[in-house]
Formats: sequence, C-alpha cells, structure tokens
Amino acid sequence: MALEKYKQKRDFAKTPEPKAESGVSEKKRFVVQEHHASHLHWDFRLEMPERVDGGDIVLKSWAVPKGIPEKIGDKKLAIEVEDHPVSYIDFEGVIPEGSYGAGVVKVWDSGKYELLKRDDKVIEFVLNGEVLTGRYTLIKTSGYGGKNSWLITKNTPKGV
Ligand code: MN
Repeated sequence: MALEKYKQKRDFAKTPEPKAESGVSEKKRFVVQEHHASHLHWDFRLEMPERVDGGDIVLKSWAVPKGIPEKIGDKKLAIEVEDHPVSYIDFEGVIPEGSYGAGVVKVWDSGKYELLKRDDKVIEFVLNGEVLTGRYTLIKTSGYGGKNSWLITKNTPKGV
C-alpha cells in the first residue's frame, strides 16, 4: 500500500511534516530539499506513480549525501528512501528532536521535469528547475552499495 513506510516512521502528533495522503494528479514536479539531519543531505524527489506500472502518485525519493550533480559528467550516490506524499513537495520546517529525520528542512530547488525513460533500474529525465537544469539519469547500482543504492548523473543534452 502506498506510503505505508512513510506512515510507520512518523508520529504526526509530533512532526510538522504532511500526513500521508496520496496525490491524484501527476504534474511532473520535482524538489530538492536540504535536510540538516544527523548527517546533512539533500532529498531528491520526483512526482510520479509509485510503481513503473502505475499506482498512486507519490514522491519517489532519494537521499543524496553529497548533493545533486550540477556539472555534466558528475555522479553522486543516491540512496532510495520511502515514498513521500505529494504534499511534501513544498514542505519546509523543523522536524523535532527525537523524531525520525530530526532537523531543519528547506527547499533547495524545485521545478518540473520531463520523463524520458523509466524502468525498475533506470530513470532518465530533464530537469527544469531554478538551479538544476538539463538531462539526468538515475541508475540502480548492482553489486555494490546496498540494495537501495542508485547513482545520479548529469548528462550531456543528448544523453550519457
Ligand atoms: Mn532526508
């Protein structure tokens, strides 16, 4: 069921984060949230169906420890995390001490994306943000880095 993991990790009586409600329309937005948790990281989220074959619209989400690549050819590790509700897309605030992900969350960039390809191991898209623009690929790693590890790369306008 959509967003079960998101709900399990949070106590909505304590955190100001949005409750788990699935989105209906898919506007193909993205967001990067700077998250000052125990380890600073950037959360990259794409508004899309929960599965390759459909389902509710959610924010597919990755924690990127070193930030989203801004130069062509750059590659960064991206750890897939639980789907977030679409309403999380403009969340900013302070997750209190003792709660999952405690710390300050700020929107670092946002905009729309154009999907070029999506399967279980590869997502290709073009970002049209305030900061991030251009063609990107998320590739699920195999053989190292754990089962939730992906790499995000910035590509040339024509592809990898
Ligand atoms: Mn985070």
